[in-house]
Formats: sequence, C-alpha cells, structure tokens
Amino acid sequence: MTVESNKVVGFHYTLKNEAGEVLDHSEEDAPLHYLHGHDNIIPGLEDEMAGKDVGGSFTAIIPPEQAYGEHNESLVQVVNHDAFQGVDQVQIGMQFSAELGGQTRIITIKDVQGDEVTFDANHPLAGETLHFDVEVVEVRDASEEELSHGHVHGDHGHH
Ligand code: ZN
Repeated sequence: MTVESNKVVGFHYTLKNEAGEVLDHSEEDAPLHYLHGHDNIIPGLEDEMAGKDVGGSFTAIIPPEQAYGEHNESLVQVVNHDAFQGVDQVQIGMQFSAELGGQTRIITIKDVQGDEVTFDANHPLAGETLHFDVEVVEVRDASEEELSHGHVHGDHGHH
C-alpha cells in the first residue's frame, strides 16, 4: 500500500539539524503514526511521504518555511520576573506554556538579568533546516472515525 490522502502511515525517523546533531528519533518499537493529508505533520515531510511504499526509506531535507517557520524576533520578549508567579527561581532553559496573542505557546527562558526575564516563544525548531531519515513501516486505510476526527487513533481508542 502506498502513502496517499486518508491513509494512516507508521514510520520510523531520525531528525538531525544542519550540523548533523540528532535532535529526535522514534523509539525502536514505537513508530510514529499519522493520518496523511490532514496536516498532522509538518508540510515538508508530508509532501515527501506521498507516494512512498511500506519498507521504503528516504532522506528529506526540509527548509524552515516547510517545517516550523522562520525565527520570529517579535516572539522574543522581556518581561518582569513577576510574570512567573509561583515559580521559585526562573532559570535559563526552563519552558512554560503561555497564552500569547490568543494562542497557547511553549516559551523558553533565554536570559535572566535581575528582575528582567527574556523568553522566546518561537517553536524550538523555528529557523532550522531539518534532516529526516525516514523508514515507512506501515500504511493502512483510516477508519471512518479517524477520518471524521482528522487524526489517527491508537490501539487504546481515542487520544
Ligand atoms: Zn479523535
């Protein structure tokens, strides 16, 4: 079976940045599953998946605009430490979920100077060209329920 719209696809992947550092990978016994044609994965990778068969493997190089977008400087902001009520000590590298412009975003603390905290609300992979090594391990028809929801359901029902 071939990857096309409304198929559920299982695949293994290793994700590297341009420097060749491994950023993420699927676990050996747990390929990632998604519903093709429903924007469940980044557009550049979904495009590369189309037409692949089970057992096929390939490398895809995805520019930022087809992945997590360019780095947006306006999403790097400085706020007073008081904005982080309930956090004993705000430290570089901490991540929080925050409402920004009506969207829930993950923000990453970039700097702390006295009472001033600099955070970055860009996706951690914004601005990165992504290198994926992919192996397609499963392609199946989606269920009616999956199609109506627009995403894949696991072995244990809805998620
Ligand atoms: Zn669902």
